[in-house]
Amino acid sequence: MLYPWQSASWQRFTQQYQQQRVPHAVILTGVSGLGQSALAEQMAMLVLCEVQDATAPCGQCHSCQLFLAGNHPDHTLISPEETGKQIKIEQIRELKHKQTLTANVSQWKTAILTPAEAMNINASNSLLKLLEEPQQNTFIILITAEPAHLPITILSRCQKVPLTLPSSETAIAWIQDQGNFEKIEITKALTMAKSAPLAALSLLSDGSLDYLEQVSRDFTTLLQHKANPVQLAQQWQQYDLKLILNYLQLRLKERIVDNTKHQNLRSNPQNWQIYDCIIKTIKLLSSSNNINKVLLIEQFMVSVMDYPTSQNAVLNQ
Ligand SMILES: [Zn+2]
Repeated sequence: MLYPWQSASWQRFTQQYQQQRVPHAVILTGVSGLGQSALAEQMAMLVLCEVQDATAPCGQCHSCQLFLAGNHPDHTLISPEETGKQIKIEQIRELKHKQTLTANVSQWKTAILTPAEAMNINASNSLLKLLEEPQQNTFIILITAEPAHLPITILSRCQKVPLTLPSSETAIAWIQDQGNFEKIEITKALTMAKSAPLAALSLLSDGSLDYLEQVSRDFTTLLQHKANPVQLAQQWQQYDLKLILNYLQLRLKERIVDNTKHQNLRSNPQNWQIYDCIIKTIKLLSSSNNINKVLLIEQFMVSVMDYPTSQNAVLNQ
């Protein structure tokens, strides 16, 4: 199934396919929550489909049936064995081995690798060799929201398919079709999710929006030196830390813009320092899978408490 905002990317791909110009490897980029996996699956399924010259996978043939059942012998899905962990070299080796075998059902062999930035250094070196010496009729799809975390050597061997954000009207209409949500809540969730509809929908469905209000109150208390950073860092581990920090960044930005409008900026230079601190912590959090998150958040809390904000509750308007 494709999403309404993917039609341009899909059309470009089907043209390539019909002109027999399918690249050996593509990389789908764009913020998380745009349905990258769905698009990748449609691409692989089309290439594998037994109906020639189709503009969409038929859904009926033996190949499509196997794909939909999740056990197509010519297709490989590579993901970390556990969420948040790395993609290992053994997984790439297995793919390599499969790619040298004759295709079973289809004319092609396909693979989806997601999230590509989860590959450890050995895995990406191994993948690079595969990209350098591609086999006939193989098609590899990489998915990443963090292309900057991938080696240039890999990026340069993949055709880029950037997924663009839908207009806010399209996004809101799509979310309204998925459930009974208030428009004001949808708008809030979309802002939080950097306008990615699937990410916004999951915020609306899993109750994250509620805990973010709590996080905002916690943070204010912390800046007033009325909370214990060690205890709070522990409490925050139950949440999605990247989401929390993005949220705080957003709220602080609103506050800074608001202050600027009222020509009040000079009175709150600490807001900028806290803002920098949030950005730095987000970067650290994204840079490694093996980071000690409790310690990172604790350090973050201790450093923001150093700024003289106790008289000025940053996030409460
Ligand atoms: Zn088919």
